[in-house]
Amino acid sequence: MRNCRCSSSVRILGRSDLLKKAYQLVMKNKEKLARIITLENGKPYRESLGEVAFGSSYIEWYAEECRRVQGTVISSPSQSKRMMTIKQPIGVCALITPWNFPLTMVTRKACAALSVGCTVVLKPSEETPLTALTLAELFREAGLPEGVFNVVTCDRDGAADIGGTLCESPLVSLLSFTGSSAVGKILLNQASGTVKRCHMELGGNAPFIVMSSADLDDAVKGALDAKFRNTGQTCICPNRFLVQEDVHDEFVKRLNIAMEKQLVTGDGFADGTTQGPLINAKAVDKVDDYVKDAVSKGAKLVRGGTRSSFGTKFYPSTVLTGVTLDMRCMHEEIFGPIIAIYRFKTEEEAIRIANATSYGLAGYAYTTDSKQQWRMAEALDFGIVGLNEGLVSTAESPHGGFKESGIGREGGIGIGLDDFLEVKYVCIGGL
Ligand code: ADP
Repeated sequence: MRNCRCSSSVRILGRSDLLKKAYQLVMKNKEKLARIITLENGKPYRESLGEVAFGSSYIEWYAEECRRVQGTVISSPSQSKRMMTIKQPIGVCALITPWNFPLTMVTRKACAALSVGCTVVLKPSEETPLTALTLAELFREAGLPEGVFNVVTCDRDGAADIGGTLCESPLVSLLSFTGSSAVGKILLNQASGTVKRCHMELGGNAPFIVMSSADLDDAVKGALDAKFRNTGQTCICPNRFLVQEDVHDEFVKRLNIAMEKQLVTGDGFADGTTQGPLINAKAVDKVDDYVKDAVSKGAKLVRGGTRSSFGTKFYPSTVLTGVTLDMRCMHEEIFGPIIAIYRFKTEEEAIRIANATSYGLAGYAYTTDSKQQWRMAEALDFGIVGLNEGLVSTAESPHGGFKESGIGREGGIGIGLDDFLEVKYVCIGGL
C-alpha cells in the first residue's frame, strides 16, 4: 500500500500545472465559493471574497514552491563513497480542518501536500463541509487524478471516530490538524501509536500591546483589523489588549469612536455588514460567559456586552476595561468580538504578562520607538509578531506557533513544504 501513497507519477511540472489550473478555476468561481462560505460560516460576503483570494493564494504559492524542492550533495569524507540527500513525498496525509477559514485552512495544507506528490484525505469541519466539497469538485475539474484528494465528511458526533481511524491507520504518514488545543492533544496521543509525523496549529492567546509611544490611530486601525476579522473568530485574533497607562484613556476613546463608525453587525449578505454571526449558539454562550465573568470581577463595560437583538447567533462588538489577570478572558481563547483591556505601567510588565501563557501563536505590539520595536519583537514568545501591523497572514510567510499553539509551520519559503517531505540519505559506495 505504501507504493500507492503518492502521486509522484504526475511529475513536478505536471503537479505545478494542475495546481495553477485549480487556482484559476477557484478564482473563476470566486463568487460561488464566497456565497457558500457566507452561507456556511456567516462571515460577510465581502470578507468571504477576501477569503477566496487568500485561500487561493496558497494554491498558487505551492504550485510555484514545489519547483524549488532540492536535495543536497554532501562532501564525502571517503574516496570510495559519494553521499547525497533526496526529498520524497511522505505519503498519505490526513488533514482535519476547522470552520473559521473553510477554504484557506484546506488549501494551506492540501496544496502543500499535493504539490510535492502526496495524496490527501481531508476531514473538514462539520460546520463547513460544502466549501471543501466545492473545492474538491474544482480540483477534479482541473484534472487532479481520481483518489488523490479525498474528502470525508461527518457530523460532530462522527468526528472522533474518523479522527481515530485516520490517526491509527498505518497507511497514513502525516496528520495535519488546525483546531482547538484540546482536540489537538487527543490527536497527538492517538497518532503516537503509529509514530506519525504531526503538524498542529492550535489555539492562541494573542497579546495586543499599545506602548506610550504608539501612533494611536495606527494602533486603533490595527486593533480593528486584527480583532474583528471573521467577527473575532481567528486563531491569531488579539485576545488580551495591554495598554500603557498614560495612553490608555485616549486609546479607549479613539477605539470606541472607530468601532461605532466602522463595525456593522448583521446579515452577511446585507450591504455594509462587517460583523456576521458567530458560528453557533454555543459560541455565543461562551463569549457571553467571558463578559459576565469579567464584569462580576470588576471590569467595566464600555460598549456591547448584552446579547444582540439581531438573533441568537449574534453578539455585539464589545469593549471591557479594568480587566484583571484573574479574569477568564485573560487566559482562555475568547474567539468572539470582545476587546478586553488591561492597563499596564512598564515595558517589562507588558512582556511578562504577554508571555505568561501556555499559548504562543501570535502577538502584536504598537510602538514608534525603534529600539523598543527590536526589543519587543525579540522578547515576545510567539511564532508570529505583528509590529505596528494587525494584518500579518500571507502565503509568503510562515504561519505557526510556539509552545502549546502548535508544531510546524504552514506557508513560507521552503518551511511549509518540509512537513510533507521525507529526507532520504543515499550513500553510493565502491567507487
Ligand atoms: P472548533 O471548536 O473550532 O470547532 P475543534 O478543535 O473542536 O475546534 O474542531 C476542529 C476540527 O476537529 C473539526 O473538523 C472537528 O470536526 C474536528 N474534531 C473535533 N473533535 C475531534 C476528535 N475527537 N477527533 C478528530 N477530529 C475532531
